[in-house]
Amino acid sequence: MCAAVFGGAAAAFVPCPAHRLAVPRGTRPRSTCADCTAAVATWVRAGAPCRCARPPVWTVTTGVLVTGLLGATIGPAPRLLVLLPAALLGLLLAVIDFRCLRLPDPLVALLAAGTALPLGAGALLAGEPARVGRAALAALISGVFYLIIALLPGAGLGAGDVKLATVLGFVLGFLGWPALALGLLTPHLINGPIAVALLLTRRAARRTALPLGPALLAGALLGILLS
Ligand SMILES: [Zn+2]
Repeated sequence: MCAAVFGGAAAAFVPCPAHRLAVPRGTRPRSTCADCTAAVATWVRAGAPCRCARPPVWTVTTGVLVTGLLGATIGPAPRLLVLLPAALLGLLLAVIDFRCLRLPDPLVALLAAGTALPLGAGALLAGEPARVGRAALAALISGVFYLIIALLPGAGLGAGDVKLATVLGFVLGFLGWPALALGLLTPHLINGPIAVALLLTRRAARRTALPLGPALLAGALLGILLS
């Protein structure tokens, strides 16, 4: 319950940085509204990034659901203090990926540092070095798995997806092999049917890129919740 309240409140701050960072590669963060060109100079603002935009109902709802589920499943454990901020960073990444098919490197690096360092340090202090080894191996497996897919012709999968999959692989491997398996499989069960439906309803051409980041994050969430 507390986690959901925190998640909802924090998710209200996601739309503003998401709006500013959802720009093409190599472009500076947006400093004006994309619709009405009013100035958007701050990074910290609750609610919509601009007065012309609608309230971020979906973003906040998703934040409440994700953090509420994490809180209810994990309980008051130190791990929750790592995974709640990580979930909100994941939400920011998902919104940006939906908007511009990008997962900015600094945010993925922040997610890596914010999860691998405290989880690894906690396990070492608790005398569980094997857990850290398993997590590192899982990160490698996940990264190589998505790198191979990315190298297939017409995969529509970018370097950002491979990097995010590597980071999520560490977190899932930290929890166990079943969590990693769920995390690797679920994104395809989510994006596969969506791609087929879009093709059948002719809303997408064969080469239309579908963002993989949100599906990767949803798969990782499922792996965490069910492990
Ligand atoms: Zn505006």
